[in-house]
Amino acid sequence: MPERPRETAGAQSPSPAPGLGPLRVCALYADLMNIYADRGNLMVLERRCAWRGIGFELSASGLGERLDGDAHDLYYIGGGQDRDQRLCAHDLIETKRAGLHAAAARDAVVLAICGGYQLLGHSYTLDEQEIAGVALLDVRTVREQGPRLIGNVAIAVQLPDAPGAAPARAGVHAENGFESAAQEGGERVLAGFENHGGRTYLGAGQQPLGRVLKGHGNDGRSGQEGARTGNTIGTYLHGPLLPKNVWFADWLIARALRIDPAELAPLDDEIETQTHVSACRAAGL
Ligand code: GLN
Repeated sequence: MPERPRETAGAQSPSPAPGLGPLRVCALYADLMNIYADRGNLMVLERRCAWRGIGFELSASGLGERLDGDAHDLYYIGGGQDRDQRLCAHDLIETKRAGLHAAAARDAVVLAICGGYQLLGHSYTLDEQEIAGVALLDVRTVREQGPRLIGNVAIAVQLPDAPGAAPARAGVHAENGFESAAQEGGERVLAGFENHGGRTYLGAGQQPLGRVLKGHGNDGRSGQEGARTGNTIGTYLHGPLLPKNVWFADWLIARALRIDPAELAPLDDEIETQTHVSACRAAGL
């Protein structure tokens, strides 16, 4: 297992992973769509690449900037308040829809959190106004009467080639009964925090990201959370999501680099595992 430097200053860089990367990430509206410090997700991707000697290139695409659907391996958009979503929604369609569709069509990863997730759907309806989305996911979101859906949340997800079978990791997770039960069924647990007024409804053929173990999920009723089509993923989980679920960060890195997650060098994830277990506990698992 490569030794992982905890401090950047003065730490020796690991030797570059031959043939892997760089991971080219594009953050959309990094300033406007960054509620609950969602940009922490990008830091996790960067660190986990760096610790493995995989290069990492971060670009940004803000208001008015065209999006190149060929230039990046992973496209990221965080959550945002209704006001900021309105600002971004029109721009997303005008300057980034074609790029995002091209990226998804060539199986690049597109990860969207909460408000960003809502904008990947067909529409977000609030105050009798319909904000159009880019329709990468077959979902519609409606701001209905009723309380905001707030709280810690845990979901079970089934993903192709998801990491987790390594005995060391399974051993650590064994203390969390839900996690081990889920793993036996080929599922993994994602834990996070949700806070949304919109309720999201999936089209008939749209696959959710996961099933709700604790919390509200897409609409508080369906038992479904998020949506996934191939490598395009929307979820309500903040936290930020990836620091609380580093196994998922690795899955995303692997998908974006088009390798099996098992090909990624294992890291010393003791602290990250504790973080995950504590996020699961906070959700009531
Ligand atoms: N503004 C959206 C809603 O309230 C999304 C909020 C968020 O990103 N947390 O539903």
